[in-house]
Amino acid sequence: MKIAFIGLGNMGGGMAANLVKAGHEVRAFDLSEPALAAAREAGCQTFGTAKEACATAEAVVSMLPNGQIVRQVYENEVIGHAPQGAILLDCSTIDVATARAVIAAAEGAGYAMVDAPVSGGIAAANGGTLTFMVGGTGEAFARAKPILDAMGKAVIHAGDAGNGQAAKICNNMLLAIHMIGTCEAFTMAQKLGLDAQTFYDISSVSSGQCWSMTSYCPVPGVGPTTPADNDYQGGFAAGLMLKDLRLAMEAAEGAGASVELGAHAKAIYEAFAKDNAGLDFSAVIKSL
Ligand code: NAD
Repeated sequence: MKIAFIGLGNMGGGMAANLVKAGHEVRAFDLSEPALAAAREAGCQTFGTAKEACATAEAVVSMLPNGQIVRQVYENEVIGHAPQGAILLDCSTIDVATARAVIAAAEGAGYAMVDAPVSGGIAAANGGTLTFMVGGTGEAFARAKPILDAMGKAVIHAGDAGNGQAAKICNNMLLAIHMIGTCEAFTMAQKLGLDAQTFYDISSVSSGQCWSMTSYCPVPGVGPTTPADNDYQGGFAAGLMLKDLRLAMEAAEGAGASVELGAHAKAIYEAFAKDNAGLDFSAVIKSL
């Protein structure tokens, strides 16, 4: 299949490479020349504009930094420039309202489109093991799924347009809350004279167990190997977690949902990310 890929950064670069590995003809575009060079190395054809990349594509995949850029790229470079029958897939993490507006514009112009944000970081993007949460019609989902399968281990239909983004920010709000809770518990255990490994051994098989503890432990040397064991380098940056929490708070306000712990988590990451935006989000333990 001819697939245009727009946004070849930390995530998009590996995702485009996996589409090539699956046998697709990938027509890539990014504003950054080094990103384009890496895409050529991975077997993509590269173009000088998004319009040219889309020109004969049967599908368009995008992985861009934020909602404003997604809206600009689709309005100016994709809608009306990709062939009419193309399926459009935006995998960026953006606000629910923009996702719904861009999909409505695409559908108005006769395209099928889904929002398909991902869970999993750069390693999962490179390894083709992302989880995609997809919003859109059943028909659009059925067309998008085989393309997403080439880049991920799980592709789940979350419902109508925008529901992929809704699932993503609800999930990441919960992740932020249980990461901070896990960090507080380890810090308090230590202050009460409990060794971190001993607390892990007990809590990981008790009711305090959660993903932040047993899959992504914020304490170095305890549990599986995590960014904590690499001085909190790599992993999921605190700045990106803050971005997702801001999106979650916007969405909660729009929906009239009460999210007191989410709001508190956002305040904690706001303070932490001022000087530590590039560190893994589990490094928030240093600030407690
Ligand atoms: P990135 O900054 O590394 O990549 C974004 C790319 O988009 C860059 O190469 C940039 O040059 C390109 N770009 C910007 N404007 C463009 C335009 N108008 N046209 C074409 N290209 C343009 O970011 P990333 O880490 O790859 O993240 C991409 C998206 O994935 C974000 O929405 C992010 O929230 C989400 N995400 C990231 C992670 C992660 O761990 N990095 C995990 C899950 C989701």
